[in-house]
Amino acid sequence: MGRTLFEKIAARELPADIVYEDDMVLAFRDVHPQAPVHVLVVPKKPISRIADAAPGDREILGHLLLKAAQVAASLGLEDSGYRLVLNNGRDGGESVPHLHCHVLGGRAMGWPPG
Ligand code: AMP
Repeated sequence: MGRTLFEKIAARELPADIVYEDDMVLAFRDVHPQAPVHVLVVPKKPISRIADAAPGDREILGHLLLKAAQVAASLGLEDSGYRLVLNNGRDGGESVPHLHCHVLGGRAMGWPPG
């Protein structure tokens, strides 16, 4: 199978506005932002979606969430708050089959989501 869109971004083969990177995750601005701050935090390992994560991915998943919170804080969202979203499968609204955590902030989020 070919590499995912987000693997190509991590390899700098596609452009992105990267806001954080370490050995396990990459964070970059969503190309179609749904809020004033909209960043995707993705594991470098191409796990397709949370439903396909394995027990051996525990460290990556924990790191992903901790870094999502760190990225949110670094972008000024700590006091106002923010939302983290994982879209899984068709009804979840998943469009890119490479796990990613949306970090959304800079406006009040509605509930329930549409
Ligand atoms: P999801 O619908 O949860 O799978 O989210 C995929 C997200 O990836 C969407 O919010 C898209 O706007 C975003 N996206 C797609 N292609 C790119 C890209 N090349 N750079 C940054 N974000 C992208």
